[in-house]
Amino acid sequence: MKPAEPTRQRRFGRRKVCPFCADKTLYIDYKTPSMLKRFISERGKIVPRRISGVCAPHQRSLQTAIKRARIVAFMPYSSSTAD
Ligand SMILES: [Zn+2]
Repeated sequence: MKPAEPTRQRRFGRRKVCPFCADKTLYIDYKTPSMLKRFISERGKIVPRRISGVCAPHQRSLQTAIKRARIVAFMPYSSSTAD
């Protein structure tokens, strides 16, 4: 049995920066589903921020915007493509 080696994968080689922090003109708005769709998986789920690279406060407002967009039917709750 080999001891579990502590592989440190968290290097600063490619630091993902939050797109909303990087671009100040990018505004989280529930009325722009085209922008929100970037942060939604193809199944209609919100992409976790470790994948999207969105920072915590922006992920929060993103979630709110997506939820709001769903309520006003700009976006689907889940794309149920049951073919
Ligand atoms: Zn941010």
